[in-house]
This record gives sequence, structure tokens and C-alpha cells, in this order.
Amino acid sequence: MKKYTHAWLSLKAMELLRTYEGRFDEERNKRVKKLLDFMYRYPSTFVRGAWFPDTVIRDNTQGGHTWKYELDSSDGRVVRYRPPSHNTCLNFVQSELDKKVSLDERISDLPDRCEALSQTIRDTILITNKMPSGDVIAFNDSQVAVLFLMLSHYVCDAHVPVHCDNRDFYDPSKIHPDLEAFWENEIKKYYSVSTKTQQFDLDENLNLQLDTSRRGFENSVLHKCDQILGQAAWDNMDQAGQNWYAFLGSGNKNLWNYLVSVCLVSFHMSLKMFPLNPPAGVDYDTVRIRRVSPFKEDIVQYSPYILADAINSVALVWLATWERWELLAKRIRYIE
Ligand SMILES: [Zn+2]
Repeated sequence: MKKYTHAWLSLKAMELLRTYEGRFDEERNKRVKKLLDFMYRYPSTFVRGAWFPDTVIRDNTQGGHTWKYELDSSDGRVVRYRPPSHNTCLNFVQSELDKKVSLDERISDLPDRCEALSQTIRDTILITNKMPSGDVIAFNDSQVAVLFLMLSHYVCDAHVPVHCDNRDFYDPSKIHPDLEAFWENEIKKYYSVSTKTQQFDLDENLNLQLDTSRRGFENSVLHKCDQILGQAAWDNMDQAGQNWYAFLGSGNKNLWNYLVSVCLVSFHMSLKMFPLNPPAGVDYDTVRIRRVSPFKEDIVQYSPYILADAINSVALVWLATWERWELLAKRIRYIE
């Protein structure tokens, strides 16, 4: 994914959490509010912070941004992790998930990155809260906010089908960059954003602003994404807020499990959008998917679901990460 897509997804995750505030139990509602209040103090950080993994860290070649499967009926294994029911792409690939797959371990670190960043955020906050204000070994809040944004980057990458598929769609193929450019263009087209200040326009209630000079938003994939989000609800939303992994899907006990389940769905989405045997006359090394059928129709059809799932994921991974330190600080054990 590209720069403004990452920031937009994080800002949408904040909007989603705001609509959810009040739907959890009292304790969890308070934590959602604290998380939102915390992140909203750094509106200017979103574009840059969510992009550090690509511009500064650049661990793409090390597998930080990917988790690459291939079908392997002979030597592969069945991955047992499944995403929670609000993952909308699950509906498209449910019947495929029990197929045996192999992982390219050289370039597959994404769930490890997310788990590590989440634990680092927990540790950073716990240390900071115990240190006297201004102590040199304490972290400051903006540093913690940047870690949250970096975490959102890797979480969103897990939803990009081609990040989870071991076929090379980047070089010489243009499928990977074309797919990500489609999302980036839609966001920059319909939302008010300054590339000079690297900030999205937000109103006084911190809502993203549409560019009013643009027409056609109602027919865009982004509008469809909003409609999908409007119908979403997480599993266990009514459960007592004593268990930060309640939303991660049955059997998923940590963010690593959750991200593996997301990547498995993404891999099968990639196979759905770009079948192993390309349609007649199509060469994946040269095809431009934004111009050629059935790809141009497929990316319009599936993108709203992919983007909505990414927004849900950032929201729930951020909330889980926030609860992870707060419950630990209160010595609350997980309740299963
Ligand atoms: Zn990335």
C-alpha cells in the first residue's frame, strides 16, 4: 500500500472506533475513549508515522511487510487460524481455507512484526507510566503514537492480497503496484488532503473531509467501503472488557495468530483475483489490471471489502494493544 492509503486507513479506524464507543461494556468504553483521545493529539503524525516502515525502516525485502503462501498439496500444511466473522473477504474464500499451503520463510515476517510492535507499545507505556515526568529513560507520548502508526502499517499490509501470495507480481509484473495505485488514487481523488503538509483535512470533530469539488463519490469503491463498515460489528462486542483478545477470532490468542488468519484469507483473495491459470490471452508479466477485464471489474468489486477489513483490523489491533498494557498494569488476568 502507498503513503496516503496507510494514513487514510488509520484515520478511518479512528472514525470506526468512535462509532463503536458506547457499544462495549463500561470499562472497555472508557479504554476506547482513552485510546482515541490519545491518538487524536497527534493528527499531524498519521501520514508520516504510518509511512516510516517504507521510507525509513525499509524492511520490505526482509519480509516485514509480507507473509507469502503458495498452494502445496504434497508438502504443505493446513493453517488452522481463522479470522473473526466480521472479516468480509472471508465470505469469498471460506471454502478454500483448508487447502494445504507452504510459506516462503525468507520473506514472511509480517505477523511477527505486528506482535513485536504491540508488545513494544505495551512495554513503552508501562515504563513511561512508572518513571518521573521528564526522566531521560521515559518515552514521550508522541513516540508511542508513532509506534501505533507503524503497527497500523503492517496490519494493513496483511490485507493486501498480493502481499500474501508468493508469486512475484512486482517485477516485471505491474499487478502489485497497479492495485496499490488504484487505492491511492481513489483516496487522493475524493478526500481533501495536502501532500505539501502531508495531512488530511479533518474537521473540528476530527472527521476526514471529502473534497467537495469532486463528483462521483457515491459510486466509488470508498463509498461502498463506508457502507460495509456501517454494517460491521465485531464478535463478542457485548463481552466484559477483561480480555483484549476477545475480538481476534475464535482460537486466536494473540496478534500473531490473528494476523496469520488475515494473511491466509488475503492469499486466497489473491488467487481469486489473479487465478493460477490466467484468462486466455493474459500474461501476468505485462497485463495492466486497471484497463483489462476481468481484473478492472474485480478490483472495483473486491476493493471495498479489502479496505473495510483493513480498517476493522487497525481498530481492533489498536484496541487490543491499548488493553494489553492497561489490563496488565491493573494486574487483570485474561478471562477465557
Ligand atoms: Zn508496507
